This record gives sequence, C-alpha cells and structure tokens, in this order.
Amino acid sequence: MALPHIEKALNALFIIASAWTLPVSAQAQQTGGTPVPVATATALPLLGDGSEMSSNEERRLGDRIVRELYRDPDYFDDPVLTDYVQDIWQPLLAAARLRGDLSTELDERFAWQILLGRDRSVNAFALPGGYLGLNLGLLAVVTSRDELASVLGHELSHVTQRHISRLMTKNSQQTPWLIGAMILGALAASKGNSSGEALMVGGQALSAQSQLNFSRDMEREADRIGFGVMTQAGFEATGFVSMFDKLQQAARHNDSGAYPYLRSHPLTTERIADMHSRLPLGSTHGTAPVPTVLHAMMVARARVLANSGVDTLRTWQAQVNDAAFSALAPAAQAGLLYGATLAASRLRDPALSQRNVQRLQGLVASDAAALTQARWLGVEMLLAANQGKPTNPGLTPLAALSPWAGVGKQPRARLFLQTQVALQNPDAATLETAAQGLQDRVASHAQDAAAWHWLARVYAAQNQPLRALRAQAEERVAQFDYTGALDRLRAAQEQHHDRSTKPDNAEHIDASIIDTRRRQVEALLKEQALDR
Ligand SMILES: [Zn+2]
Repeated sequence: MALPHIEKALNALFIIASAWTLPVSAQAQQTGGTPVPVATATALPLLGDGSEMSSNEERRLGDRIVRELYRDPDYFDDPVLTDYVQDIWQPLLAAARLRGDLSTELDERFAWQILLGRDRSVNAFALPGGYLGLNLGLLAVVTSRDELASVLGHELSHVTQRHISRLMTKNSQQTPWLIGAMILGALAASKGNSSGEALMVGGQALSAQSQLNFSRDMEREADRIGFGVMTQAGFEATGFVSMFDKLQQAARHNDSGAYPYLRSHPLTTERIADMHSRLPLGSTHGTAPVPTVLHAMMVARARVLANSGVDTLRTWQAQVNDAAFSALAPAAQAGLLYGATLAASRLRDPALSQRNVQRLQGLVASDAAALTQARWLGVEMLLAANQGKPTNPGLTPLAALSPWAGVGKQPRARLFLQTQVALQNPDAATLETAAQGLQDRVASHAQDAAAWHWLARVYAAQNQPLRALRAQAEERVAQFDYTGALDRLRAAQEQHHDRSTKPDNAEHIDASIIDTRRRQVEALLKEQALDR
C-alpha cells in the first residue's frame, strides 16, 4: 500500500547511483520481483548507524517536496475530510509512540502531516520527512474507519522504520534536490501528466523502475508493525484483512489503472496469509465490514470532490430519486443524500441542494455525529449559494452550526465554517469570536496555512490591515513560500510607514512583530537557496 511511482522512483534512483558498483542488472532484479539494493532490509533499521540520511536531512527533503505540492491545486485541504482523517491518524500516532515504534527524535523532527490528493486512483503513499499523501480515490473505496486505519498504519510504519531514508541513502550520490525532483516527477507522472516524465533522469532508470518497489522485507515489516499500531489504537483487526481482500479482488477484476500500485506492488499470497494469521481466533474475517452512517457520508464527500464531471454529478440525484433508494440501508441512503446535496450545489441548483440536505438531516436525526456533519453541510451549502453577495440573510449565524459539545478544542472544520458565516454576516462580536478561535488555532498549529488564510480575511474585515498582511505572510510561510511571505511583510512595512503619521500603540507593536518576522523569513529564504 504505497505509491508505486514513488517507490519506483526511489529504487530507480538507487540503480542510477549503484549501476557502477553493483553487478546486479535491473533486469535480474525485475525477474526476482524483489528489488534488493538495500542490504539492511532484512533487519530492523539500525538508527544512527551513519549510513542513512539523517532525520533532519529527510525532513528538509520532505519540506521541499510538499512545497511544490502546495502549489498544485490537486493537493488541497478539505477541512471536513481532513478532520475525519485526523480522527484516525492521531490515535495511530499515539499508539506508535506508546509501542516505541515512533521515536521521540522522529516525533519531533518529522511533520506527521497528511496531504489530500484529488486524484481518483486508489493510492496512499509515504513521502520523506513524515508527510503522507492520501488520494480521495482511496478514501472513496474504504468501507470502514478500520480499513483506512490499516492503510495509514502501514504507511506510517514505512516512515517510522526509516524505509524511505534507507532506500535513498545507500550508495546514493544524488543531491537531495535531485531526489526531490524525481519524487515530484513520479507524482506528476502518476497523474497521467506526461510533462512529469521529463523530470525523470536516465533511460535506464525509466525502464528499470517499472517493476521495482520497496523490498519485500520492507513491505512485510510495514504490514507487521502497521497491524500492531492499528490494533493498539483500538481499530478492528478485521479492517486490515478486509482491506487486503478488497485490494486482492481489485487486482483480479480491475485492470483499468484505477489501482496504480497493484501493477507493481502485488499482494503476495504470503502477505495475505500472513495478515489472516494475525486475526484473533474466532474472528469472522469472511464478513465484510458495515460502514457507519458517518463513514458513508465522508466517502460520498470524497467521491464528489474527486469527480466533479457534470454527468457524474447528475448520477447522484438520479440515485436518490430511484425507486430502489428506499430499500437501501440507512448508511447507503445517507451517503447518497450527502453526495446529492454537494452535487446539486456544484451544478448550481441551491434549492435542490437544500431539499437534499433537509432529507439527510431527517434521516440521520438519531445519530449525533452524523447529524452534526449534516448540519455543517447545510451551512456550507448556504455559504456556497451566497458566495460573492455582501450579506447572507439565510444564515442564522452560529446557531445553525449547533454548539460544539465535544471535549477540548473545537473541530477545525467547524471553526472555518464559523469564520465564513462571520465574514458573510459581519458584526463586531461575531468577527471577534472568529478571530479568537483562529488565533488559538495558529498558536498551537503554526503550520496551518488555511487557519492563517481565514485569519487574514477576518483581520481585513476588522479593518486591521497590518495584521491581515502579516497573517497572509504566515500563510505563505506555512507552505514554505518564503518569497511570497517576504512580499507580504514588505507590503505591511510600507502600509505602516504610510499610516505612522497617526500614531497608534497597537499598530506599533504589530509593526515591530512584522520587522522581526521579516528578518526571520529572510534568513529562512537564504537557507532555502543554499539547500540546492
Ligand atoms: Zn508499502
């Protein structure tokens, strides 16, 4: 369960570097089915043995890669799906810590961040530095949280076991810049974007990579540790097996390329048998998991966001109107209504969208988590319908969001919705509530670019231009765009200069923060330039 293109690129890279030192031809490795360039693959990683890329170097490489991905509209931040994935990801991280799989060093140095990819292909992949890519196509086919946890647990273990650094380091003479370019090339190529191929280096590598992957030992290790992590985190062990079974079925019946990694990343009978043997005695591993109502709704969201072709959008409504609809299980009905609501909005039919979301809210009324999501969807649809209009009389601010009853900080998706409601119905108190929520968020998550983005909008609405410009700068810093950040900070300094004839204490404090940030960002930019 990893992006073959990336795994291939890494292996190909190894072959470029080692072609002169190892008498193993790419062909021989292909026929063996197992790339064997990593000599240490049979044992657990020997952390700090000096032969692997340091965690700092790996993180820097990861930052460089995601900096490019952030500029690609196919990688995006959907707060609702991000929250749903985080709800699975955070327990996995906690379990890996508890089990000792995630060292304090990696925990602190790596990003542990998941990027959603709009791609419809079924894929999840680990990137250097603790970044993970998760395609909507994969979200769209998982039947339960447990299945998603099994995929994420497997990828997490590739990272904690330093498989990536081991692939990249051994004998590699390549600069990190080249490695980064190759991974980006592989990602672009996996989207069917042929210009990405140009980034690949060397004809030998291109032909060799078609069959290469993480070693079989690495896959086995990621399976074993991933299984331990996901069960420790409280997910159902059957999820691991049903995900394998699902992929195996897909391998048998699907040759359309929708499952890209299956072509070069076969699920060996050994791997599958191994997984089945891990199930506790008496567990029913033949039965398919039943999706919860909430899960079905999130899957529907992933499907609509991944495929917004007009014909596909229309099929959602057709399914809701179909005579067979009422015979479906509640979760299936909720999923279709959720999808039809979003689809109608995208087809610019707000009235139909509202009718669908009201049906959905009625259907899930007894399921608190699902009802909350259905209400948020209703607000999202009202916001979408009123986009560009100065005020939105259809919104009763905040009440429509239903108060946050959970423990701890409020969900990010709700915070962003609340902010958008405040921006459409601007009054001083609502804006201030939104500003405070967002300030709390960035104080604990400085890398949250979207939170900075909304904070900038709120500051602008509050007529605080310096703070708005600084928040815009921080949004760019969070995405490693230091040039863009510097541009915003300079604009802020000019603003302050023009306004300083009317002295204002608060602004002087803001201005001195901006001066400091400018010096820091200039240093970061210098470092980034040296990094090549
Ligand atoms: Zn894998």
